[in-house]
Amino acid sequence: MSLSAISANLTSTKLILPVAVFGMMLGLAGCSNSSTTEETGEAGTEEQAANDGATGTDEQTITIYSSRNEQLIKPLLDRYTEQTGVKVELVTDSTGPLMARLKAEGQNTPADMLLTVDAGNLWQAAEQGLLQPVSSTVLEANVPAKYRDPKGQWTGLSLRARTIFYDPSKVSADQLSTYADLADPKWKGKLCLRTSKKVYNQSLVASMMEHLGEDKTEEIVRGWVDNLATDVFSDDVAMLEAIAAGQCEVGVANSYYYGRLLDEKPDFPVSIFWANQDTTGTHVNISGAGVVAGSDNPDGTLKLIEWLSSDEAQGLYASSDKEFPVKEGIDESDLLRSWGPFNKDDISVQKFGELQTQAIQLMDKAGYK
Ligand code: FE
Repeated sequence: MSLSAISANLTSTKLILPVAVFGMMLGLAGCSNSSTTEETGEAGTEEQAANDGATGTDEQTITIYSSRNEQLIKPLLDRYTEQTGVKVELVTDSTGPLMARLKAEGQNTPADMLLTVDAGNLWQAAEQGLLQPVSSTVLEANVPAKYRDPKGQWTGLSLRARTIFYDPSKVSADQLSTYADLADPKWKGKLCLRTSKKVYNQSLVASMMEHLGEDKTEEIVRGWVDNLATDVFSDDVAMLEAIAAGQCEVGVANSYYYGRLLDEKPDFPVSIFWANQDTTGTHVNISGAGVVAGSDNPDGTLKLIEWLSSDEAQGLYASSDKEFPVKEGIDESDLLRSWGPFNKDDISVQKFGELQTQAIQLMDKAGYK
């Protein structure tokens, strides 16, 4: 679409928020609860560093509210700018504060795109009216339907597996099987888990509710709680390090954290096990994006999202991010290939959003902190 055509679509009354109000919102965003922190907080990067000057409103600048680690996502966006001349402004924070800002800013938001992790978060953003539906034959071709919103408000851009990790000096792979098996008394005092407050675990439990029903899932979650070696962890990396330190023998984490740990420490003494291979397949979730409801430039924003689903960008996700491509047939990195092929759970990820409230209630009832 030409610039003039885009301009014709713009609402001429759109105002830029006064600096003082915007500054106030940045202050509010700084008060985020650590339990909502995504990759940014976990990786220890400066969440506010990218916030300055994030007021791009012309059509050649796309402003992204992103909860992704800036170091991981920026190389992809720089490549897009090189190829198209379109500038990208990144506003990096945790998902909760970013969604609160989108809500407060409404049609006056400088944001064009929300880039975040977990279908549970994207589903919530759509539910709150923060995103707009798009129709894209490119996304339909590149991203399997189970990783997209049926109403077109968000799409997956990368995959992450949430699976079982273990201490190979104490556990052999043939002792492991399913998430449900981690509730067996044989793991008493040997299991480490991240907090149930994290959306990743809410989505995992939502998938179990869909497959196994509420009663069975509650029984399993109670078993997990009974088997805990120690208090729940605030993040996946601390949990994996606890396995490495001998504090527990098994745990559940996202695959890319393990990949990044192996990058830093090739001898990291923890092994990966693909859960549920003989049943429903390993739980996979997405990182993804949607066009913000108040975007000035929905067409340009969709083009960038489409580019992120292209072969080139999908290959970069696998190499720099340690995530799996969402597009089929893309070559994975040597590291990801070394973990071996695995069957993925076939569930539509929108279910994680639909069942999120029930999953939170179930975990609370089962005593999972
Ligand atoms: Fe994460």
